[in-house]
Amino acid sequence: MSQLHKFIFDGLPVRGMLVQLTDTWTEILRRRAANTEHGAYPAPLLDMLGQMTAAATLMQSNIKFDGSLTMQIMGDGPVKLAVVEVQPDLSLRATATLIGVLPEAASLSHMVNAHNQGRCAITLDPKTKFPGQQPYQGVVPLFDDHGQPIERLSEVLEHYMLQSEQLDTTLVLAADVGMAAGLLIQRLPVQGVGNLAGSMVSRENEEAIGRNEDYQRIAMLAKTLKSEELLTLDADTILRRLFWEESITRFEPLQGANGPRFACSCSRERVARMIVSLGADEAHSVIEERGELEVACEFCGVQYRFDPVDTAQLFVEPTRQAAPGSSAH
Ligand SMILES: [Zn+2]
Repeated sequence: MSQLHKFIFDGLPVRGMLVQLTDTWTEILRRRAANTEHGAYPAPLLDMLGQMTAAATLMQSNIKFDGSLTMQIMGDGPVKLAVVEVQPDLSLRATATLIGVLPEAASLSHMVNAHNQGRCAITLDPKTKFPGQQPYQGVVPLFDDHGQPIERLSEVLEHYMLQSEQLDTTLVLAADVGMAAGLLIQRLPVQGVGNLAGSMVSRENEEAIGRNEDYQRIAMLAKTLKSEELLTLDADTILRRLFWEESITRFEPLQGANGPRFACSCSRERVARMIVSLGADEAHSVIEERGELEVACEFCGVQYRFDPVDTAQLFVEPTRQAAPGSSAH
């Protein structure tokens, strides 16, 4: 069963989280494999999307925020887009768009940063918004301060956390066909350094924030965790092996209905709204050509079909609806 474990290092300004997505992740893969148009993810893309899924779950769980967290990589290589969306209750979905074929051992930059134009965006969309409020979005490039492509997703996200949350974070991420997993170690916010979303931190500042012996020691221990260990050992064993010299307090793991799990938020109504936004001409020309409108959800694979009658109704509906408050009672 998919699990998320939270823990703190007693008396130190450091906290941690470990996620192991099993059934949640295999459900995402199963639905993709069942998609006759795209087929299963090739290994390097599966690895990248799995790491994103684990990381987005950790990040959603790490912030106190009542809204969805969406992690997107907009690629300039064969992988055009990879998206993970995690709700505050840790239900999540993920998908990726691949054009063409990937070599067996494609690197991160080969997939999404072929021309150094790839970007990673994190969007926080509050559940309840005041009028005109936009979701908050932070974007980081997939290259380092010297313009060199970054080959590890964990490094891209560590950079994001430092830049937009001003939090020192260490991530270890891994995925295979059976699991997507991640370990997050974070230094608790420094007093006086606010969480000014989107604000830039100077390099001197980054170093000042990074100067903390306890955090550095624990981060270094975390970095010794190998992908294979993260994907095969249970949480107890991992934490004991890594931090046996540290005193940690663990919390009740989040699992089942309280833990990470697959769920898609698509609906026929949403698809209908999307069709309406395309316009009547576009919709009717597809109907003329194919006899019906068929839209498949990229996340869960559910097919939504609109025959000519359904489609016609989409465009007359608003005028036939009763005005608000004019119910028969
Ligand atoms: Zn769906």
